[in-house]
Amino acid sequence: MPPRQQPRAFRHSLKWIAVLTIIGTGLGLYAAFRPPLLPPGPPTIISRSEWGAEAPDARLQTESGHEIFNTVVIHHSAMRFYEGPREIQYAHMHQRGFLDIGYHFVIDVWGRIYEGRSLAVHGAHVREHNAGTLGIVLMGNYEETVPAPAPLERLKWLVRALMQKYPITHLAGHQDLLPGQTLCPGKNLEPLLPQLAAELGLQFGAGGYLGPEPASAATSATSRANPASEPAAISR
Ligand SMILES: [Zn+2]
Repeated sequence: MPPRQQPRAFRHSLKWIAVLTIIGTGLGLYAAFRPPLLPPGPPTIISRSEWGAEAPDARLQTESGHEIFNTVVIHHSAMRFYEGPREIQYAHMHQRGFLDIGYHFVIDVWGRIYEGRSLAVHGAHVREHNAGTLGIVLMGNYEETVPAPAPLERLKWLVRALMQKYPITHLAGHQDLLPGQTLCPGKNLEPLLPQLAAELGLQFGAGGYLGPEPASAATSATSRANPASEPAAISR
């Protein structure tokens, strides 16, 4: 074999090693971030214990039987897309002083649904409008990106399921309850909500908001026990 062919063969091998490394890295990244294959049939809700939720603050009292949700409020997390309920709960409890994660449900960018705050208590997701509003947050920042079909489909499934349990009449974006005070759920998600409401047979907007029951001792007790009210800044 001529002496000059060895380096050439060596360089050729290096080239292939580099190509295979790039392909391997690409496949690895795809495997890490690809949408999971959603199983057929109705979705399931990932429980707090399954996602490793921290126990709520002991001051968060339950008032089972007193909460009547009539408006579903949609949020975006305005966080990185791969973050999830654990990061939201940490931010709410340890940076903002909430007694638990503020939202009742979280849906990630792959359409997985996570149980949030107990449905037996008010959420902490719309300042001064937490009585009677059920908070659902979609992971991602929809000021910057467009929601994928999977989370929107799962949102519809979830709201339909909640409509079986609560007298829900309205669906609104966070900004519809606090006009001019927040961009949440983002310029790319908010315009989709009227159509979503129509598909669910609900009215769109804040018109159904009833507010706290003034004579309810249970409600005022909860208001005292749960000072957490989402600051406008949290959802930008
Ligand atoms: Zn919000």
